[in-house]
Amino acid sequence: MADLPGLVVTGASGRMGQMLIRTITSSDRARLVGCVERSGHDWVGRDVGECMGGPAMGVIVSDDAPTVFAKAQAVIDFTAPTATVEFAALAAQAGIVHVIGTTGMEGDHIAQLTPAATRAVIVRAGNMSLGVNLLTRLTQKVAAALDADWDIEVVEAHHRMKVDAPSGTALMLGEAAAQGRGVSLTDVRDSGRDGITGARKRGDIGFAAIRGGDVVGEHDVIFAADGERIVLRHLATDRAIFARGALRAALWGIGQKPGEYDMMDVLGL
Ligand code: NAP
Repeated sequence: MADLPGLVVTGASGRMGQMLIRTITSSDRARLVGCVERSGHDWVGRDVGECMGGPAMGVIVSDDAPTVFAKAQAVIDFTAPTATVEFAALAAQAGIVHVIGTTGMEGDHIAQLTPAATRAVIVRAGNMSLGVNLLTRLTQKVAAALDADWDIEVVEAHHRMKVDAPSGTALMLGEAAAQGRGVSLTDVRDSGRDGITGARKRGDIGFAAIRGGDVVGEHDVIFAADGERIVLRHLATDRAIFARGALRAALWGIGQKPGEYDMMDVLGL
C-alpha cells in the first residue's frame, strides 16, 4: 500500500473534490495522502472522511498546499481558475503531476500554466470522461467531412450551481469542430444570442447553455443543413466518470516528461 502513488485532492469539500476522494480511496492503484481546502474553511484541521459524514480516513484537511504537495506524486485539482494557477506553481515547485479539471480558465490563466509545465507534467481537460473525449474526436472528423453548408451548434445543459458558460466541454467540442474545419474558434465563436441578433453567419460555431436542477452534464453537437441534421450527443449521469478519468490521468502523468497534456494524450485517442 505504501508504495502506491500518493495523490492529493484540492477543493476537497467540493462536489468533484468529494467524488475524487471516494474514487481514490476505493482504488487499488493509488492512495490518498492529502486534501487541501482554502484557509478558514471549516474542514481544515479535520479528518476528511468524517467531514464527508463517514468513518475517519486518516487524512487531515490542510490549507498548507506546499507541505501537502511535498508528500505526493500528483495533485488532482477541480477548483477555480485563480486557485488552479496558484496550485500549478506549487505543483511545479514540488515536481509533481498536476491534473486540472477546473473549467472557466481564460487565456490569461492558461498562459500562467506555461512556466509550470516546463518543470512538471500538467494534464488539463475541460472534461475527463472517456465518452466525451471520444465525442470530441468524432466532432472533429464530422466537421472535417462537411462544409460550411452545415451549421454547427453546441448545446449544453448543467446543474443550477454551475458558474461558467459555455461549459469547458462545450468549448472543447467547439475547438474540435473548428479544428476539423481548419478555422480558429476565436474567429467563428457565437455565444449567448439574445434579442435581434440578425441571421446566423455562415461558418459560425454557436453555443447555447441550459442551467437547472442537478443535471451532471449533457452535450449535443448539432450539424444542421437544409433538409437534414446530424446530432452527436453525450449524457453524463454520474460525476464518477470525471473522477475516474482524472485518476487515470494522474497515474498516466507520473513518469511522463514535463509539459502540457490533455485527455487525448492520456487515452491515446
Ligand atoms: P464546487 O462544488 O463549487 O467545488 C469547488 C471547490 O474548490 C470548493 O471546495 C471550493 O472551496 C474549492 N476552492 C475554490 N477556490 C479555492 C482555493 N483558492 N483554494 C482551495 N480550494 C478552493 O464545484 P465542482 O462542481 O466540484 O466543480 C469544480 C470545477 O471542476 C469547476 O470548474 C467545474 O466546472 C469543473 N468540472 C470539471 C470536470 C472535468 O471533467 N474537467 C467535471 C466536473 C466539473 P469553497 O467552497 O471554499 O469555495
